[in-house]
Amino acid sequence: MMPDKCSVMEEGKQCVNPPEFIVSIVDGTDEYMFGLTCQKHKSVVTGKLGILQSEGKIHNGKISFTPVKSVGTDCVHGDVDDLVQIDMNKL
Ligand SMILES: [Zn+2]
Repeated sequence: MMPDKCSVMEEGKQCVNPPEFIVSIVDGTDEYMFGLTCQKHKSVVTGKLGILQSEGKIHNGKISFTPVKSVGTDCVHGDVDDLVQIDMNKL
């Protein structure tokens, strides 16, 4: 099952918005699922991933947002256990 909340944590509190986009990093033919975000946190997540990429902590590649609704929870590939909590306090 997909988590039903945005992955962003702000000031120690989990964002309670429903996820609207699946965040992934596309590196050539590979796609790494990273987390979920709501519309509000989309730009924040983009910035955060850019920082992590520049620090070499995550895969380099294009940051991709796939609308959750068009994918459908049944056909999402990737291991949900790999999803990370995006803690904004560590920015
Ligand atoms: Zn959010």
